[in-house]
Parts: sequence; C-alpha cells; structure tokens
Amino acid sequence: MLFTELNLIQPILRAIEEEGYTTPTPIQQQAIPHVLKGTDVLGCAQTGTGKTAAFSIPILQQLANKEFHGKRKIRSLILTPTRELAIQIGESLAAYGRHLKIKHTVIFGGVNQNPQVNSLQAGVDILVATPGRLLDLMTQGYISLSDLEIFVLDEADRMLDMGFIHDVHKVIRALPEERQNLFFSATMAPEILKLAGTILQDPIRVEVTPVSSTAEIIGQTLYFLDKHNKPNLLFDVLKEQTAQSVLVFTRTKHGADRVAKYLTKNGVKSDAIHGNKSQNHRQRALNNFKDKTIRVLVATDIAARGIDVEEMELVINYELPNIPETYVHRIGRTGRAGNSGNAISFCDFEEKAYLKDIEKLIHQEIEVIDNHPYPMEVFEIIKKERPARPPRNDRNASQKKPKPTVDQKVGAAKKKGKKTWFGKKDRY
Ligand code: AMP
Repeated sequence: MLFTELNLIQPILRAIEEEGYTTPTPIQQQAIPHVLKGTDVLGCAQTGTGKTAAFSIPILQQLANKEFHGKRKIRSLILTPTRELAIQIGESLAAYGRHLKIKHTVIFGGVNQNPQVNSLQAGVDILVATPGRLLDLMTQGYISLSDLEIFVLDEADRMLDMGFIHDVHKVIRALPEERQNLFFSATMAPEILKLAGTILQDPIRVEVTPVSSTAEIIGQTLYFLDKHNKPNLLFDVLKEQTAQSVLVFTRTKHGADRVAKYLTKNGVKSDAIHGNKSQNHRQRALNNFKDKTIRVLVATDIAARGIDVEEMELVINYELPNIPETYVHRIGRTGRAGNSGNAISFCDFEEKAYLKDIEKLIHQEIEVIDNHPYPMEVFEIIKKERPARPPRNDRNASQKKPKPTVDQKVGAAKKKGKKTWFGKKDRY
C-alpha cells in the first residue's frame, strides 16, 4: 500500500514525500482511515512503529478540512508522558503540516513557562503537552479546552508507570463530552484497558507487533563477565563495532554518569542523560547525538523514553534491566521502522536472574559470545565459599591456618559441584 491510497490531501502527501516516505507502516495503514472518519481508536503500538505519524497526519488533515473563524482555538490536544516525546510529536506535526496553515505548540515542564504562554496566547490549533505543565497552565487560566475536537492519549502505559493517572483524569474532566479520542499504548494490561474504557466510545482496535515479537528483528548477543570488567569490555566493543550511534543503558543515574565519564576519559565522545540532568543538558546531549557530534549516549530507562534517532545501529545493555519488558523497550531503540539493528548485553553474576526473565518474555535464548578476554571468573563463587577471616588481633589463628591458593579454591568449588564457568549450558 502507498500513502497515495489513503485519501490524504495534496499538501500532506507532498510533505510525506519530502520526508522520504512512500509506504505507510502497518499502524499507519490501519489507523489513518479510521481517524479520518472520526472514529475513536484504541491503538496498541510502541514507539518505533510509526505511531506518531499514524495520529499526526489524519489530525492535521481533519483540522485543515474544517473552516474556522476568528482567533485560533485548541481543537486537538496530544497528551504525552515525557518532554522528549512531546518535542518529537511537535517535530512530526511541523514536518507533515509544513504546507498547511495549522499551528501547533509544545508545552512541558522543567523550563520557563513564558515562551510557552506567549505562543498559546498567539493562538494554536494543536497543543502537544505533558500532563504537569498542562494542568499548571490550565489552572493559571492560559489554556481553554472547551473547543476541543480530537484528544490523543499517547503512551498510556508509560503515563501510568510514571504516576500520571490522576493528572490524566483531571485533564479528561476538562474536555468537552463530544470529541474524538485516540488512545495509544505499547501494552494492553487490564488497568490500561480500564483507563481506555473511561475515555473511548465504540473504538476500533488497531494493533501491531506485540512487545515480545519486536525483539526478533534485532540481532542480539550477550557477554557473561564480571562486573568490574564491564568498562573494559565496553571500550573493546566500541572499538570493534563500526556503529556511529550507540545507545548505552545503565540502571542508575550514577552508573550513567560513571560510564560516560570513563568513555570520555578514554577518548570516546559520549554524554549521559538522566533525570538529574537539566532539560537544557538533555536536549543538548540529544542534539549532539542526533547530529553525530557524540558517538555514545549513556541513558537510564526513563530518560531514554522516546529517544528517536534514525539509524541507531547499536544498543548496549551495560546493565540488564530488572523488568524484562524494559529490555524489549531498550532494544527497540534500534532496528526502527524496518531498519536492522543490534543489541549487545553485558550480564554479570548478579544479573543472571534478570536474564532468565528476559529470555522467558522474548521466547528466545540470546546468543552468547564466549570468546572474549573477560570471561566470568570463579572468584564470585569463591568469595561466597571463602571461610570467614579470623579476627584482626588473632594473629596466631591466621598463622595456624595457611590461606588456600587460587588452585585450591577452584578445586574446592568444583568438589562441591559448583560450576566455575558459566557457558551456554549453565546460563543462569
Ligand atoms: P514513531 O513510532 O512515531 O516514534 O516513529 C518511528 C520512526 O519511524 C520515526 O523516525 C519516523 O520518522 C519513522 N517513520 C514514520 N513513518 C514512516 C514511514 N511510513 N516509513 C518509514 N519511516 C517512518
């Protein structure tokens, strides 16, 4: 199917062509005709499937086709959980709407509100917002939603994860009863469906790639190693791989900082983004990453939400996530919109349980690279087996019992039936 078969108006088709797209993605093929008809849509799709265009394009067309008089009023609201996603939706609207006279603006927290208020007061047709700043500006009287025609709730599952459910309900209470609703979520857990039920009326359900199957198009490999060797392996992998844009995930903010600092010190251009960094820093890092000024972006999971960098070739899980779905979200940053991508994971002794959960979720064993300079050593086990140290002042006791040699320790561990190396058979 081609975009030209979707009953889109010429200015939009021209903009799509200028973006270099000819074929709509599955979610676009399914959703666009319904949105154009005015039907409510329940969309099960995650970032990377082309879902932003799936709602942006038909909203632009609907609004462009309806006449309005006087000052512009907010006719469509797109509510999204993060600043990064809000900015990206704004960029999509600007791209697909470049030949239309539709105005939009993007508002989010963490920055001065004045420029946002100024653009709202100049009048907009489409408002893209994160919940906190939206409610704030509504309370201050800068935003009226009484003329709203189309409401989009984007990434509903993350909205819930991030604790925005009450804010979402507050926003919905401020909307006119008569409206079209588009609801998107990567998963359809019971509480998501419950929320959808309170918003949508007779929706059409459209669905693409459930979370566990995305992983299949991405090359995935895994290294078992000890924690202290992770920086060395990361450096080696980056040296070996040709990928120009690499996203590295850590579980913690400090971890992200440490890794970025280590890489920078060793001559790899990198930066970290996480919740403790200012909005300016995050945006700058993201821009540097997009224009390839830096090669590696180290991110925590929340900060990475919605990062949309085309041609991201490699994702490295420096630390495995403790929630298996997060693994799928992480590796979904690569291999987007049909491009191939690779994901490399580092797994230390303590992360084996996480690996087990991940492989269960993706119904797949991740290929292990066991020929590398930092194989997981026995010392993790030996540390556990090591007899308690004699008290410091009991010098005689420590003299009486000589310390076992490394060979003796390995022998002892083997005798007790403990594995000393974790190959494919003993993955966990
Ligand atoms: P999204 O799921 O909205 O985050 O989009 C993922 C990526 O796919 C973005 O970089 C889009 O620019 C790109 N994209 C959207 N629609 C298409 C299309 N029809 N063909 C190719 N790429 C697309």
